[in-house]
Order: sequence, then C-alpha cells, then structure tokens
Amino acid sequence: MFIFHKIQHVVSKSMYCPYCHNTETKVTDKRDAGKLTRRRRECLKCEKRFSTHELVEFSELKVLKKSGKRELFSKEKVRNGIKKSCEKRPVTEEKIEKMTEIVEKKARLKKGHVNTTYIGELISKELKKTDKIAYIRFASVYREFADLSDFKKEIRSLINGRR
Ligand SMILES: [Zn+2]
Repeated sequence: MFIFHKIQHVVSKSMYCPYCHNTETKVTDKRDAGKLTRRRRECLKCEKRFSTHELVEFSELKVLKKSGKRELFSKEKVRNGIKKSCEKRPVTEEKIEKMTEIVEKKARLKKGHVNTTYIGELISKELKKTDKIAYIRFASVYREFADLSDFKKEIRSLINGRR
C-alpha cells in the first residue's frame, strides 16, 4: 500500500524544466531525506540539468460520516465489516484480506476524502463477487435499502443471476 501510494503521487506530479518548461524529464539521481525526495533531472528537450525537491505526501484519507463527522480511513474497520458479513461462510481469511486490500486501494484513489456510503458500496461490490449471503448480510445492514421492496428486488436479482 505504501509503495502504491508513493508511485501515485510521483506520477500525478508534473515536473517541468525551469529553462524551457518542457515537462518531459529524466531522473538521473534520486535521494531520500525523510519526507523530502531530491531528484536530479535532465530535460529531454534542452538537456539542461536541474534538481527538484519533492515532498512525498502520504495524504491521509478522511472518511466523511453521515453525521457530518470526519475520521481517518481505517482499514481495520473495513476488514471488520467484511469479516462480520462473512461469519460462518466459506470465505477464507486470505480472501477477506484480499477484499480489504481492494477496498482500501480503490478508496485511496479518491484523494482527500470519501464518504461512508462510497466505502460501503466498494465493500458490497467485493462481497457480491465473493459470497452472495455475505453480500446480503452486509447490504441489509449498511446499505440501508430504501424500503423492503428494494431489498426483495435485490435478492430476486441475485437468485435470478445464479441460474
Ligand atoms: Zn529544458
């Protein structure tokens, strides 16, 4: 996860040559000093060399709750939610971990903050692919179906999909 995030940041950051403003540069040397990364770069257009000091941000993902409160994204909470739904279902620990990883990865793609509903949707999606019963359990608790007919519709579509 750590590595993934770091790469994301570097890729999204556009570095340009201070001489000709070309954005295509080549990294010739890289040194890390705490949160700061110093890179020696060479412009691919004018071939001049310069160095950049890049702040590696481990941007914190905030979760916006329905109450309006914000809290730090918790992988543990995602894992627990998935675990609870998979209780006594033939879903391995490994699979639970894998689903947790996917949810975290997708959530972190939304930089800054996400709301709890979005995380709920991500979890639902993974459970739906893995275990239908676990999915229904999760959805009935977290997705808060608008009314009973929505819930029935969802179950019916699952049953039909199984044929
Ligand atoms: Zn240049």
